[in-house]
Amino acid sequence: TRPLDDDIAIARRAKLKPIGEIAAALGLREEEWEPYGRYKAKLSLAILERLKDRPDGKLILVTSMNPTPAGEGKSTVTVGLGQALNRLGKRAIVALREPSLGPNMGVKGGAAGGGYSQVVPMEDINLHFTGDFHAITTAHNTLSALIDNHLHQGNALRLDPRRIVWKRVLDLNDRALRRVVVGLGGPANGVPREDGFDITAASEVMAVLCLATSRSDLKARLARMVIGYTSDRKPVTVGDLGAQGAMAVLLKDALLPNLVQTLENTPALIHGGPFANIAHGCNSLVATKMALKLGEYVVTEAGFGVDLGAEKFLHIKCRTGGLQPAAAVVVATVRALKMHGGVPKDRLHEENLDALRNGLANLEKHLETLDKFHLPAVVAVNRFYTDTEREWNVLAERARERGVPLAFADVWARGGEGGLELAEQVVALAEGADRRGTVRFLYDVNEPLRTKIETIAREVYGADGVRYTAQAEKQMAQIEANGWGRLPVCMAKTPYSLSDDPTRLGRPTGFTLTVRELRPAVGAGFVVALTGDVLTMPGLPKAPAALKMDIDDEGNVYGLF
Ligand code: ADP
Repeated sequence: TRPLDDDIAIARRAKLKPIGEIAAALGLREEEWEPYGRYKAKLSLAILERLKDRPDGKLILVTSMNPTPAGEGKSTVTVGLGQALNRLGKRAIVALREPSLGPNMGVKGGAAGGGYSQVVPMEDINLHFTGDFHAITTAHNTLSALIDNHLHQGNALRLDPRRIVWKRVLDLNDRALRRVVVGLGGPANGVPREDGFDITAASEVMAVLCLATSRSDLKARLARMVIGYTSDRKPVTVGDLGAQGAMAVLLKDALLPNLVQTLENTPALIHGGPFANIAHGCNSLVATKMALKLGEYVVTEAGFGVDLGAEKFLHIKCRTGGLQPAAAVVVATVRALKMHGGVPKDRLHEENLDALRNGLANLEKHLETLDKFHLPAVVAVNRFYTDTEREWNVLAERARERGVPLAFADVWARGGEGGLELAEQVVALAEGADRRGTVRFLYDVNEPLRTKIETIAREVYGADGVRYTAQAEKQMAQIEANGWGRLPVCMAKTPYSLSDDPTRLGRPTGFTLTVRELRPAVGAGFVVALTGDVLTMPGLPKAPAALKMDIDDEGNVYGLF
């Protein structure tokens, strides 16, 4: 079935509860939340302190197979599963990332779910929300301004203007700003140098905010961030410049999780939105930790597939925060399976049972990976109205043969009601997980960078090995020499393939992963390994979503999805 309305029309009809009612149902005290309008609130960090001895709820990670460019519905399934768990009588909370305006104005739409599984108020969430992205942008650019001012005022830290790695950011897709020259116009206008813009989601400040565990940890992480190098290659940090205090002030409210609700009034914490390539791609650690204190079940999402999202969720976020997920949901769609089985993008709506069977190799690899982490998983087939009964039967049959838990999710068309089968399977797995013990990390952080990258490439991607460019070799030596080699690795790779080549679909074998650059993100606490071409400032497509947006005289917004 296909809902008759688009996302925004469905969202507009929702019966939202005043946010105070949602907060009260979570057991929050009046002074622990601050309303941002009628349907949004910021939650106080004091909640973590008050509930520190309460046992955590069960953490469920929603991840996926390698997606098509349209996305396979992780956010939608996350919201729908939260709603379904509530219908089963479990106190569930959804924890999601905040959408970036870049993809929103571009091609992909927001990240507020879809159909009857959305978080609301969706216009607010998809646009300026509670101003967190603005605060992060401003904190980031304040540092940029302080750096250029430092050069202008005599450069006591002896920063080499050609070795400044701290760029500027904007929460838009604007390819024209990727490389710029600043400081032109003579001595009164600063020191000329090459600079560039990234999108706010790619800012290290975003990653820092999402991994910080307290205000003091936030400041310590900000202080550790590297802004550039001297001409004899010594790192210069934010702490050297003394900017962490001002940045933490600008992030005062941005550090607080945002409370909203789903279309069915399930509480949702939406906080932080780091890129899933250059950063770790998960909502903030404080939001997840708070949700675990407030709910019996917390359903959260990590960007892209198991190869990127789940690996980084486990190795970076769970390791940093001491989180122990109970189960994973792997979202698969008939269209993505057919794509991995060799069907071109414009024919994915046609039934093709052979391609579907071939494409299962991709999904199976991701299930094997989760098994290596000892994380029990269920496959959620996100139903599309273009799927056929026979295609679903193929999936159900294969799951039975292999003994893989699989549920059909119809949460987009039917909300929580359409996710009951999935919710029951998740509960069965999560309650079983208590008995099975803990997640196993695939690498030890104390191993050399080379070993950690090799492990991810072989175990998670199925590569034969790793090749480094001369530049990456040099950077690896410098990073180890600076004492940053013991940080976890944050892989930046195409989300579309298990390999670093986006055209190799299915389950590629016989490939070597090429690492072309390594970047330390010392404040965030990881070393980024870049493979292939990863854009930190995306561009707009030929037909940007922005050109289909409008607002009427009553203030109703059209064209957001
Ligand atoms: P992801 O989080 O994996 O990127 P989303 O949940 O954001 O994916 O979904 C991507 C887009 O697909 C959204 O616009 C959403 O409304 C739409 N969508 C998701 N599930 C379905 C479905 N079952 N049928 C039709 N459209 C869907």
